[in-house]
Amino acid sequence: MHPTAEDRLAAECQTTVITCARQAHAWAPSIGALIKKTGRDGRFDLLTALDFPHLAGNKEVLTQAVEDAMLALSLHKGEQILVVGGANVEQIVAAVREQFHVSRKVFPNPISEDVPINSIDMGPVPMPDARCRTLAITCMDFRQHDNDLATKLAMQLGLDEAPHILAMAGGAKDVEGTMRRSRLTLAQINDYRERHDLRTIVITCHTDCGAFGGSQMFENTAHEDAQFDYRLRVARGVLRRRFSGVAIIPAIVRLADGRIGTIERRDP
Ligand SMILES: [Zn+2]
Repeated sequence: MHPTAEDRLAAECQTTVITCARQAHAWAPSIGALIKKTGRDGRFDLLTALDFPHLAGNKEVLTQAVEDAMLALSLHKGEQILVVGGANVEQIVAAVREQFHVSRKVFPNPISEDVPINSIDMGPVPMPDARCRTLAITCMDFRQHDNDLATKLAMQLGLDEAPHILAMAGGAKDVEGTMRRSRLTLAQINDYRERHDLRTIVITCHTDCGAFGGSQMFENTAHEDAQFDYRLRVARGVLRRRFSGVAIIPAIVRLADGRIGTIERRDP
């Protein structure tokens, strides 16, 4: 179904969260409630890094995350960036603040200097589940992340477990998009595979995605699906060549009423 005026109105999100891909699914249910305590609604665009504890020292991934946060702020009329982490969260916040001021000067859309960059310290970080064999690459869009995408991916795609979530601006486009974005994404997945017994990568697009100009760019659902299938096919090819032996599952996340409706496995 095509988005209604209400859907577009719902495409505003006050908070962009930057956090750890391996903890995102454990923390996601609490993040919304904690944001509400700050007087804002609990929805959040989600950006994650696979090696989040060392984000402050990984300049390229940090820059990409901050630029994606700026994109989220300008696309969804955001008001704050929230860094959610464990013991060293303040160190990461300091790095994000510094990078924000650097990137702001080159970011094409005007972004206020006064955007608050706050943090939530989740306390001692639980040991990352080293047995997790499934990684999902998704867009940052809040309409997927405020209602537990990882669990829904597992249920609707018949996965053995809730995947770790690598969330950036674009989903499949992060694998086959610009050179820098693609290189960084593949490098992160490669690092992840070296530490985990990676067996499955879920690669997704979602309906009404800002990275594709939104649903209004397409004549109808079939036209939008065709564009997603093309992107998913290219991304699957890139991942297959790079990570032989890892199963690649392409999927479309269909939004309905500003939330996840259904998640559909594709064979593009
Ligand atoms: Zn999107």
